Amino acid sequence: MTPSPALTRVTRGDLCAGCGACAALAPGKITMQTQAPGFLRPVQSAALSGDEERNITTACPGLGQNVIAAGRQDDPLWGPYLTMQTGHATDPSIRFAGASGGALSMILAHLVTDKVVDAVIQITAAADPVTGNQTVITTDRAGITQAAGSRYAPSAPLSDLPTQLADHPDKRFAFVGKPCDVAALRAMQERDETLKTRIPVLVSFFCAGVPSLTGAEAVLAALDTDLSTTAAFRYRGNGWPGQATATLHDGTTRTMSYHDSWGKILSKHVQHRCKICADGTGVAADIVCADAWESDADGYPLFAEQPGTSLIVARTALGAQLVQAAKIMGRIETSPFDVKTLTAIQPGQRERRRALRARLIGRRLAGKPIPQYRGLQLRKAAQQNPMMRNLKNLLGMIRRSLKA
Ligand SMILES: Cc1cc2nc3c(=O)[nH]c(=O)nc-3n(C[C@H](O)[C@H](O)[C@H](O)COP(=O)(O)OP(=O)(O)OC[C@H]3O[C@@H](n4cnc5c(N)ncnc54)[C@H](O)[C@@H]3O)c2cc1C
Ligand code: SF4
Ligand code: SF4
Repeated sequence: MTPSPALTRVTRGDLCAGCGACAALAPGKITMQTQAPGFLRPVQSAALSGDEERNITTACPGLGQNVIAAGRQDDPLWGPYLTMQTGHATDPSIRFAGASGGALSMILAHLVTDKVVDAVIQITAAADPVTGNQTVITTDRAGITQAAGSRYAPSAPLSDLPTQLADHPDKRFAFVGKPCDVAALRAMQERDETLKTRIPVLVSFFCAGVPSLTGAEAVLAALDTDLSTTAAFRYRGNGWPGQATATLHDGTTRTMSYHDSWGKILSKHVQHRCKICADGTGVAADIVCADAWESDADGYPLFAEQPGTSLIVARTALGAQLVQAAKIMGRIETSPFDVKTLTAIQPGQRERRRALRARLIGRRLAGKPIPQYRGLQLRKAAQQNPMMRNLKNLLGMIRRSLKA
């Protein structure tokens, strides 16, 4: 079997984001499998046709991403958008279950209730391992609420797309995924009109990166438990930010704060592609939600428990129209938001974006393949970084790449 040149390049650069687009584009020839230390990676079992190879090369976010602002305001750090506001679900159970204000899930509930779409393709907790994820099709508020909350573990929501679409030939879907998943799907839609019609709404969230399943096991170990004794595991939600919660087979629970679970453990297990991600803010989506943290006097986010608030970004005319409709129907409440405050409440996103160009140059100087980013304003973002910090990022990346 001839290995796919696209997948070979991705593997050589450790560029896989784990989205599953390649599996969807070559069904039966590529499958997503969990590989050490617990990331979803494509495994090829048959030679690809020329078309399959070309489609994967165009869509794979490990190989690149193309953004066209098309007249929208286009912030060098936050990408093109039409409106930005804060808000939350008006249904208290969705606001509580959501990772932040449940705005994302409430907008999904709005879409199915008002028949904008028939169903949603999204991620929820897997049965085995309980720390993992599975893709589900939800059709009502109960299913959407069940899937609310962020899961800091690998997900490949695109991998089963051909089967899902074939199994539900009369349904139109909204899709929720990480920014890289949505970028891949948008690129797939550029070459496939049917995909555009069948999945008219793309929703995402800000994303700092996906940790491996080993990261989740480290959280369980810190809670003095493990997979064998854990019946269910929730990374976040049920409050804002909510606690990482392991429910044991005996019914007892063990919890850890978001600050400790994400900040001290999971963030140390993030895959390489995320460290050189140009799109942690979902620029290809119609609607993107994020944490609208309050910040302290130094501008750093406060993680004190409180009723959740989501940042709601409409990036397209369709997105703006749907957010407005959800508001008019009383499903979300919103308040104005000043984009200038976003750098303070998303310091991780800001730093990665500013450092990215230096990191990419460093990676290339070390002889490693990098994603081809077009229209993502990397130069302008890098100009916001002090010269010495850019140099530090460049040299750090060369050193790490040569060691790997
Ligand atoms: C890996 C990861 C990293 C994140 N990094 C940031 C960040 O840097 N900054 C920030 O502000 N927010 C980040 N978030 C998003 C944040 O946690 C919230 O999702 C966001 O605030 C929206 O909250 P909500 O209450 O409106 O969403 P909810 O109503 O809770 O909806 C969340 C949606 O995300 C989907 N989902 C959950 N986990 C995954 C997953 N692993 N893959 C695909 N879909 C998933 C669910 O199916 C659900 O539809 C991250 C989320 C994830 C999963
Ligand atoms: S990033 Fe997505 S499309 Fe590219 S190799 Fe990984 S799973 Fe496949
Ligand atoms: S950081 Fe970027 S590459 Fe990593 S999972 Fe999030 S969107 Fe995908």
